[in-house]
Amino acid sequence: MVLVTVDCLRADHCGLYGYSRPTTPFLDVLASESFVVPAAIVAGAPTYYSFPGILASRMPLALGRDVVGLAPGESTLATVLRESGYATGAFSAGNPYISPRFGYDQGFEVFHDFLDFEAQPTQETVSAETPPGDSVRGHLNRSIESFAGALGLSRLYNELYFQYRMKIAPAAESVDALRKFPSAEILVNQAQSWLASVGQRPFFLWLHLMDPHAPYYPPNEAYRELAGRDIEPGRARYLNEYWNRSDLTPARLSRKRDEVVQLYDAGIRWVDRQAARLVDSLRQRHLWDDCVFALTADHGEEFLEHGGRYHSPVRLSEEIVRVPLLIRVPGERGVKVPASPMSHLHLAPTLLEIMGVQAPTAFQGRSLWTNLQREMAWDGPAVADPTTAGPAIVGPAIIECAYGCTNPFRAESRSASRLLGVRDARFKLVIRIEPGATEEVYDLEADPAEMRPSTDGPALETRKRLLQAAREHMERTVSARDPVMRLRARLRDLR
Ligand SMILES: [Zn+2]
Repeated sequence: MVLVTVDCLRADHCGLYGYSRPTTPFLDVLASESFVVPAAIVAGAPTYYSFPGILASRMPLALGRDVVGLAPGESTLATVLRESGYATGAFSAGNPYISPRFGYDQGFEVFHDFLDFEAQPTQETVSAETPPGDSVRGHLNRSIESFAGALGLSRLYNELYFQYRMKIAPAAESVDALRKFPSAEILVNQAQSWLASVGQRPFFLWLHLMDPHAPYYPPNEAYRELAGRDIEPGRARYLNEYWNRSDLTPARLSRKRDEVVQLYDAGIRWVDRQAARLVDSLRQRHLWDDCVFALTADHGEEFLEHGGRYHSPVRLSEEIVRVPLLIRVPGERGVKVPASPMSHLHLAPTLLEIMGVQAPTAFQGRSLWTNLQREMAWDGPAVADPTTAGPAIVGPAIIECAYGCTNPFRAESRSASRLLGVRDARFKLVIRIEPGATEEVYDLEADPAEMRPSTDGPALETRKRLLQAAREHMERTVSARDPVMRLRARLRDLR
């Protein structure tokens, strides 16, 4: 089995989800023989709140808000498959939150996280990216900055300093030197070598690709295929630095939005091409005919739809929580998948049932394999006994994260109030769990852009139903907490 997770890939930027640009020609074709879930919803966002759901079928805050990552000894897709005799290998493109530090190597015989990756910096990029620091120039800059701030001129200063930096930065020779994460090509190469070493054993290969993640420096080939011209490295750097500025209003930022999205889309195009290359090599090794192939993302990405950029956990809008999910099963024809929202929580149990492997009882999700095969919706009141085989009914998709936690390495960042989402086929409730907080309910049919939280009449029953689901989730979080797992994770974090 192959599981490909793509960082920051939102569903609506993939061709198979109706995007207007040809970002995913290979996956679009693969979709015709796959199950494509229309509404796959992450268990949390960003990366560190998403992966417990994907790999361990567990809500991200289930062990407590102060626990990030997987607990030592926790069952995951990888540990279960390894125990069942599978060769297990993981290649992750340099995301520090998916590392042994957070327990993600568990169950993998080979785990390569590329955290030692460095683009080959040219002399120019070193000087351009070096912060002012303690140099005389830096001191001078800080003096000007504080002076400008005192006069209320800091915006002007920021503007001048940005333009100045752009001017003194010599032209970058290539986007490859600017890239912060290893390209999918490097990971696929390593995966191919690993597959060659596996022989005839059944295998589980996990690839985590970072190409669409900011800063957006896609390979030129992918950019050319999408934009019809070559990328200009200097322009790409300018756009990334501009997009990253904290002093600009959304209105100013929006002037460059389309160009930035073009870079992001080219990253997706590159992922698509590398996925094609991986499948090609599986075919050549005569492995493809028996290979289950799943592709999804850990969360999406914002491009000012609600005023934000990147993917901070301050909003649970669709561009963040709705991700692609494609599952290709040999011998199964792709059928129409119900529009019921499918939480990532149900992915690992579903994949295990497809593989004929028993899911551990600790998994919080249910297998939806029978539902997928029979085109049966799975939303409705959850059934209490999760061991029942056959089609499942599960509650709405729950999404949770610590509000505003952009640096989980800092304990105080993790202990912010919980941001909770409840997403059913039509409505989404978003609430911060803190005293005095009020909830927002969005009608995704009437208001797909989530511009107007609905407050009135007909929403009352919906509001009650979703709040009830939120309450049940919070109660379960406390009552079902595994104290031993929690302690193990706490001890690991104190190392
Ligand atoms: Zn991520």
